[in-house]
Amino acid sequence: MERLQKILAQAGIASRRKCEELILAGKVQVNGETVTTLGTKADPAVDEITVNGKSISSEKKVYLLFNKPKGVITSASDPQGRKIVTDYLKGINERVYPVGRLDYDTEGLLILTNDGEFANLLTHPRHHVPKTYLATVKGVPHGTSLDKLKQGIMLDDGMTSPAEVEYQDVDLDNKQSTIKITIHEGRNRQVRRMFDAINHPVIKLKRIAFGDLILGNLKRGTYRHLTKEEVEQLK
Ligand code: URA
Repeated sequence: MERLQKILAQAGIASRRKCEELILAGKVQVNGETVTTLGTKADPAVDEITVNGKSISSEKKVYLLFNKPKGVITSASDPQGRKIVTDYLKGINERVYPVGRLDYDTEGLLILTNDGEFANLLTHPRHHVPKTYLATVKGVPHGTSLDKLKQGIMLDDGMTSPAEVEYQDVDLDNKQSTIKITIHEGRNRQVRRMFDAINHPVIKLKRIAFGDLILGNLKRGTYRHLTKEEVEQLK
C-alpha cells in the first residue's frame, strides 16, 4: 500500500504536488469511489485508480477463464510450496489474480484478471453472481433434503439464500449421487457445508458455471481469454 499521490506521481500523471491538487479537487477515484483525503493509501496492483475517469494503469486488461484442477491453491503464492493457479498461466505476463476462490479440492471454472474493479464488482455480496456446481455426494439425498437446500438452510454463519438444485446422476453401485446446485452467494466452503448440513458430504466438487459463463469442454489445467462480450455481460 502506498499513498495515492505517490502512486499517481510514479505513474507519470504529474508532480506529487500537482497530484495532491488533483486529489483535493475530487478528480481521483479508487475502485469507483472519489477520494479527496491526501493520506489515503492504495495498492496499484489491485486497486483501479482513475484520474478524470481515465485509468492510470497502462497495463492491458486481461480476463481469463481457467479450468482449475483439484489439488491446486487459488492464490498468488503458497508458503507450503503447493501448486498455485498462476503456475498454469504460461504465456500470460500480466499480474493476474483470481476472482473469488475455489477450495484446494474443488475443480472447475475460475476467472483470473488484473482488473481490480471488475474483480471487486463480481465478488461483492450485492452482486449475487449465480455459481453452478456439480457436487458428487455420499448417498442419495431424499427429495425432502434437497428441498431444504432449495429453501435455504441454516449454517453456522446464518441462513443461505435459496439454491436451485436438481439430480444429475445416481450411482447406486458406489452409493453416491451427483447433484447440480446453483448458489447466489460465495461463502467459504459453502456448497460443502450445505451438503454436510443434510448429512450427504461432498466427495467431489466442480464449478461448471459462473454467471452466464460456462466451463464447457475446456481442458483441465488450461485457460482461454474471455471475449469482450463475455466481460461486458458479467458487469
Ligand atoms: N463451495 C465450496 O464448498 N467449495 C468451493 O470451492 C466453492 C464453493
